Amino acid sequence: MQTNLADFIKDTPEGKEADSILRACVHCGFCTATCPTYQLLGDELDGPRGRIYLMKQVLEGKPATAKTQLHLDRCLTCRNCETTCPSGVRYGRLVDIGRKIVEDQVPRAPADRAVRTALKETLPRSWVFSPAMKAGQLLRPLLPAVLKNKVPKKQSAGAWPRREHARKMLLLDGCVQPSMSPNINAATARVFDALDVQLIVAPRAGCCGAIRHHLNDHDAARDDMRRNIDAWWPHVEAGAEAIVMTASGCGATVKEYGHLLEQDAAYAQKAKRISELTRDLSELLPSFEEELKQKLRGKVAKRVAWHPPCTLQHGQKIRGKVEDVLRGIGVDVQLCADSHLCCGSAGTYSVLHPDIAYALRDQKVANLEATRPDMIVSANIGCITHLQSGTATPVAHWIELVDSALA
Ligand code: SF4
Ligand code: SF4
Repeated sequence: MQTNLADFIKDTPEGKEADSILRACVHCGFCTATCPTYQLLGDELDGPRGRIYLMKQVLEGKPATAKTQLHLDRCLTCRNCETTCPSGVRYGRLVDIGRKIVEDQVPRAPADRAVRTALKETLPRSWVFSPAMKAGQLLRPLLPAVLKNKVPKKQSAGAWPRREHARKMLLLDGCVQPSMSPNINAATARVFDALDVQLIVAPRAGCCGAIRHHLNDHDAARDDMRRNIDAWWPHVEAGAEAIVMTASGCGATVKEYGHLLEQDAAYAQKAKRISELTRDLSELLPSFEEELKQKLRGKVAKRVAWHPPCTLQHGQKIRGKVEDVLRGIGVDVQLCADSHLCCGSAGTYSVLHPDIAYALRDQKVANLEATRPDMIVSANIGCITHLQSGTATPVAHWIELVDSALA
């Protein structure tokens, strides 16, 4: 596609990146067919090709409007369109850049601004979020459905392993996950302990930056990233083999640190190294395949429906690995119809666009339940909580299944 970017952006790093992405798009529209919001709403401007066109107009100098902002807001950032695109258009980066420019041009209504500010100031701060979640869990029976959907039942983490091992890896604790589902990281630590690997949580590391980045506060997001790099760096220098991610949304973001901080002279090299060391759980466990099989074969006689999060299958381009690990230990793993589609959780999306989020959830749950599973497993706390709010079938992280078999 031909472009002619406006003076305000064309010579900036973001302008140059957006220009090269726009030029790769041939406007064929293949991506539209797999876009969840286009499928639901049927409007070209709620599909990737239409959104790309809107962003091109803004980048070429046409003032953004509230309508432009609405169509970009309604995008789930699921990046299904990237998987479908035959031309390699990096839509996810383009929409990050486009949304920020639109955010700076179009003032939001006070109520919308207040909700967004509350989300980005509370969710990444565990010292604020954790007591709020505890209070929510105490009052859960009394909460209206709209809040109950966001508050999972209280869960015990079980014991954190105490053995030391020569092999060490870092584990990102994250921001909301330890309060909502503390068993996920503890289960991961127990599984790695059984494989003679010690997981280390660096106390000062926290939110990966995704929440603020996707709410268009890129400066605050980069502060989150720098804080994590500072927290991890001594362990990297001491020889940590990898940085393990149990939430695929965090993994997709930390793998981008190198790119997102490449203009920061003080952090660019460290950020690149951090991204290189970052691994989703499912990328690490296949190297322990034989040990896991020996310990667990036949111990998990369960039929599970696997929901691959968008941040895993489209963001990190990891497909088939979780299924391989689970099948290797004897689990009957089912993929549902339309498994490439988003469940509607999408970070803070389910708070900001509940109608679309719950319509997608209900479609997803119906497809997952059609496989008649004993349980549903996924790899991201947002998807797990969102799906559980729509079904009585238990929903868990897949590592919890491996951990329960080890126990
Ligand atoms: S993003 Fe890719 S699939 Fe979509 S219109 Fe452009 S080239 Fe075609
Ligand atoms: S990221 Fe997802 S919702 Fe957004 S345009 Fe692409 S396919 Fe559609």
